[in-house]
Amino acid sequence: MKQYFCDELNNVLSCFHDRIMSCCTGQIGPIYYENYRGEKIDWDAFRAVKTNAFKLLNEDDIEKSPCRSCYFLRERKSTDIILPKFKTINISHWTHCNCGCIYCARMFHSKGKIETKVRKSDYYDIVPLIKELYKHDLLDRDNLFVSIQGGDISVLKEFKPMVKEFLKNGLKEFYILSNNIIYQPIVKELLDKDLTTYTTSLDCAEPEVYYKLKRVDKFKDSVENLRKYAKSKFSKRIIVKYIVIEHINDNLEEITKFVNLMSDIGISNIEFMIDNKYVMFTNLDETPLPAHYGSLYLHMKKLCEEKGIKLLTWDKTEYIINKYALKLIN
Ligand code: SF4
Ligand code: SF4
Repeated sequence: MKQYFCDELNNVLSCFHDRIMSCCTGQIGPIYYENYRGEKIDWDAFRAVKTNAFKLLNEDDIEKSPCRSCYFLRERKSTDIILPKFKTINISHWTHCNCGCIYCARMFHSKGKIETKVRKSDYYDIVPLIKELYKHDLLDRDNLFVSIQGGDISVLKEFKPMVKEFLKNGLKEFYILSNNIIYQPIVKELLDKDLTTYTTSLDCAEPEVYYKLKRVDKFKDSVENLRKYAKSKFSKRIIVKYIVIEHINDNLEEITKFVNLMSDIGISNIEFMIDNKYVMFTNLDETPLPAHYGSLYLHMKKLCEEKGIKLLTWDKTEYIINKYALKLIN
């Protein structure tokens, strides 16, 4: 009988505000805990979720699995072993943020409110949960990849304590995402020690455009903070995103100014992205991607090559650009 396997299910634990679940892929995979609010966890039942999820990954039972038809499923090899510990933990258990990006996927939960006060998550505390996960030997202390996504770290009271908890118990590295509005000395320390990738999304090179995108007047702060992080020993681990938003920053001039600014600051990596509206929620076979997106991508690619900046794209963005935008201009 054909058996299936998923590396996400095997390796990943995602702590979202409304549930603790397996994957962070946009698929609804097996759920460890629905509506978690900090209660005591039955750890045997918790472990059984993964074991039982794998039991359904075969030809006969796959229709009963939440993983059915997921593109991450693959045929199981004889070398595939179900691991007792997670190698990746995604932390995204809070939704409040000190800016209000018009493209924010979490806006629905934060209700568009811009939060300047540093406070805990409205849903549950993460530090006690991290302690418990280590105590029950569910996190791989030598190889753990910790991805902290948010809301924004700068208004999360638990940000520094959680980083310290991971450092105390053991991990391999962090991936930290922030809007970069408030400088975090601990992020600089992690960058100096080669312990984190730091990603932010600036999306423009002008305060006016920034305000239209983020609804706060913090362009200068964000650029100044980038300059400070760029002085880190491992500044090559900083990634600055440019998310293309229609009618706001989808023009060659803004892209030119942005790449020049990144070069001036000393940023080594830019990520080209397109609005989630097109990546997730539009059937591009019916509603076309704006034709000029291909030219924007090529323009950024050329400028990055000239400046010696690495241009990154997410697999799905690359797929969409190739299939729907570059086809139109070739
Ligand atoms: S198969 Fe898909 S839905 Fe299931 S755990 Fe893997 S990524 Fe998630
Ligand atoms: S910084 Fe992130 S969490 Fe905050 S509004 Fe922007 S996209 Fe949303």
